[in-house]
Amino acid sequence: MPMDQNRTLTGTVLRIERTSIHDGQGLRTVLFLKGCPLECRWCSTPESQGFQPEKGYMSERCTGCGTCVQACPSQAITIPQGSPGIIIDQTKCKDCFVCVDKCPKGALKKYGNTMSVEQVMKEICKDEIFYFHSGGGITISGGEPLSQPGFVAEILRQCRSLGIHTAIETSLYAPWESIEKILPWLDVLYVDIKHMDGGLHKQWVGADNETILCNLGKVDGTKYPLEIIVRIPMIPGVNDTDTNLMQAVQFCSSLKKLKDIELLPYHRLGTDTYRHLGREYSLKDLLPPSRDRISERKEYVAKLLKE
Ligand code: SF4
Ligand code: SF4
Repeated sequence: MPMDQNRTLTGTVLRIERTSIHDGQGLRTVLFLKGCPLECRWCSTPESQGFQPEKGYMSERCTGCGTCVQACPSQAITIPQGSPGIIIDQTKCKDCFVCVDKCPKGALKKYGNTMSVEQVMKEICKDEIFYFHSGGGITISGGEPLSQPGFVAEILRQCRSLGIHTAIETSLYAPWESIEKILPWLDVLYVDIKHMDGGLHKQWVGADNETILCNLGKVDGTKYPLEIIVRIPMIPGVNDTDTNLMQAVQFCSSLKKLKDIELLPYHRLGTDTYRHLGREYSLKDLLPPSRDRISERKEYVAKLLKE
């Protein structure tokens, strides 16, 4: 593809976070993309799941002023009599996002924007000085970054050419042709293993784990000198059992590029966002693990890794 076409290549970006210390070594800029083919029931970023930009409504901020009702060109918004807030008729809404711009209280929010590679690179380069002083770089996360492989590969390629350290957070639930595109430009691949049992994986995540485990083995067998860090979201009663953790560690121990296995304890930070999107959070009664339980499970995995 000619260079100027690469610069105008676009993707759907959820948000860009600066100076993160949780998504890889050093200070990092994290590019969150929109769209994911999986439906993990514990997902803490439901606003990243859909592939297109979408609206959220924070009823707690709404004063019922009616500005959005007047502004909507599709007459999709009403304030029913006696109601403290608005109702959006999704069958009439054309996703123009005028209401978001007009709301004086910030009660309506747009999740996701189309950005070109050039625009993203401008944002990434603003933090260049931090990367070089802290050993940090760029991490592309999601959603599932591999759902936008051309866009991601071009950003990683340009970062690599500028000497910026590159990482991606992925489920590897993607066609191999998409994965192949990004590998030449990648320093670290963070991959989630959600469950080793194919049936339970499908039940909790919406797809079998065969593609993921097969792709992980294939990545490990490539010539590229990237590091693999496996992450296991620790969901109480779902995948935190001895058996599942043992099987995951056994599988990962055969990977030559494996640098570490990390447990990511379940949390409930995305619960409000489900409400803002008008969606039900199906795990609303599930409590996060205690500190003691987290320590015990981490020690268990560390012990298995040493065996
Ligand atoms: S996004 Fe546009 S069409 Fe939809 S409710 Fe808002 S103003 Fe109306
Ligand atoms: S403009 Fe904002 S505050 Fe006013 S009714 Fe609409 S959502 Fe509520």
